[in-house]
Amino acid sequence: MFPLAQRLKQIIPSASMAMAQKILDKAGYGKEVIDLTWGQPDFDTPQHIKEAAFEAIKSGRNGYTASTGILELRTAIADFHNSCYQALYNPQTEVLVTPGAKQGLMYLMQALINPGDEVILFEPCWLSYRDMILLNGGFPRFIPAGEKLAPDLSRLKETVSSKTKAILINNPVNPSGYVFKKSELAQIAQIAERNDLYIISDEIYDRIVFTEFISLSEFNNLRDRLIIANGFSKTYAMTGWRIGYLLGCERIISKVSLIHQHTATCAAAPSQYAALAALQGRQDMVDNMVETYKERRDFMVKGLNSTSFSIVPPDGTFYAMLDVSQIGEHAGGNAEELLKKYGIASIDGVSYGQSAEDYVRLSLTKNKEQLAEAIERLKK
Ligand code: PMP
Repeated sequence: MFPLAQRLKQIIPSASMAMAQKILDKAGYGKEVIDLTWGQPDFDTPQHIKEAAFEAIKSGRNGYTASTGILELRTAIADFHNSCYQALYNPQTEVLVTPGAKQGLMYLMQALINPGDEVILFEPCWLSYRDMILLNGGFPRFIPAGEKLAPDLSRLKETVSSKTKAILINNPVNPSGYVFKKSELAQIAQIAERNDLYIISDEIYDRIVFTEFISLSEFNNLRDRLIIANGFSKTYAMTGWRIGYLLGCERIISKVSLIHQHTATCAAAPSQYAALAALQGRQDMVDNMVETYKERRDFMVKGLNSTSFSIVPPDGTFYAMLDVSQIGEHAGGNAEELLKKYGIASIDGVSYGQSAEDYVRLSLTKNKEQLAEAIERLKK
């Protein structure tokens, strides 16, 4: 057989997919599994958003749209983002609607990376970044996590080399729930400017925060080098609608748009009308969901006090990193052990970076009864 492309050699399967397979094959685990692996809200998409999509479908808005997205949606995205963060994105030229933030991020890697270019990331970080960078001939340069899994800014300067093309941050961070402080963002901005680097800021959890959140787009001096990725999946419980967006200066967005034109053409039309309704409609549902995630976080922090396990309290997202160092498994074996011993499904910390090997990621997307049961099992 003819071999497949070389670039596939470095790509590894997603750890969450592997765990999902194990849960499906429950045999041998003995207990009802509490599945804390899924990176998606346990809420349904709000009704008024669904109705906007039904309406779009019924009224025949089912064809291709402008490749960059319907102007009403681009305008709503720019207005919303600009008003939250005092930014200045122009909906005509500086917004690209994509089929999920993930696709937008992949376009960006295609647009920025030349073979051998390096992209700097802070561990722990979302696992898909690595594979996206490698698939485009780049090299991910990971900075090991600092204290309590916080990003170690002190090593950023020394990590920049002549090969560095971009710094990629995720704020708030999946998996740790860390929210970057203004001084840390300023440091990243300064290093990017001094070394003429791009900055990609994946802010898909920007609205799921329990503390002050600052977007990098508030730094107006970064306009030429910053691209923000965001989307509707997490904030509005719309993971299956596949709708996200990129914000950046015209020079970058116009080129990234060409990749989108030749691959997806446009994001699905009904999803775009649904996203428009999400931004234009009531926001109290988002507040309620965030309040629930916060309650769950507090419940876990408190509940785990009576066990020998602990989590690093997240300031955002619906994830939490559980310290399982006492299990004493080899890196990559902790989630398996937690599943076998306690019937709790999680993702190995090592999937998010070597320096998180003593942790597993829990997704707090289960109700309090199930979280209470998880705590009970860990207590025993
Ligand atoms: N970035 C991060 C950090 C994520 O966790 C995810 C989803 N797990 C995405 C991007 C992709 O989101 P979308 O559903 O919009 O593609």
